Amino acid sequence: MTYPNPCTQCGFCCVSDTCPVGQDFYRVGKYDPCHGLTFDGPVAFCRLSLIIPPQIRGIGLGCCILARVIKNGVTYDFASLPPAFKQIAVAQVRRQKLREYNEAQDAKREAQK
Ligand code: SF4
Ligand code: SF4
Repeated sequence: MTYPNPCTQCGFCCVSDTCPVGQDFYRVGKYDPCHGLTFDGPVAFCRLSLIIPPQIRGIGLGCCILARVIKNGVTYDFASLPPAFKQIAVAQVRRQKLREYNEAQDAKREAQK
């Protein structure tokens, strides 16, 4: 399969959803943070690639994520954005998801008191 846009290792797909292999391996839900995802600066890396070769799972072959980014009223196809724009969007989503995750953990702790 060929993809119109290259994968720039921005990590957006993994930040958005944990893939089925990650869900099984790390025993997390689709929308939980993936413990296999790590970043070197803005570049994402899948720790599972040390165990399962990335090409078997299609990692790095191209970007086909179906997502839209809206800025100043204009809608963009995420997959076709330049690498720097993808990195900015991912940084924002990571902050938001981390905040939501921490809030959910706090709420769980409160409920257990
Ligand atoms: S460029 Fe696309 S496929 Fe590559 S990590 Fe980012 S969202 Fe995922
Ligand atoms: S970091 Fe690896 S295991 Fe986690 S969602 Fe991405 S590809 Fe799947």
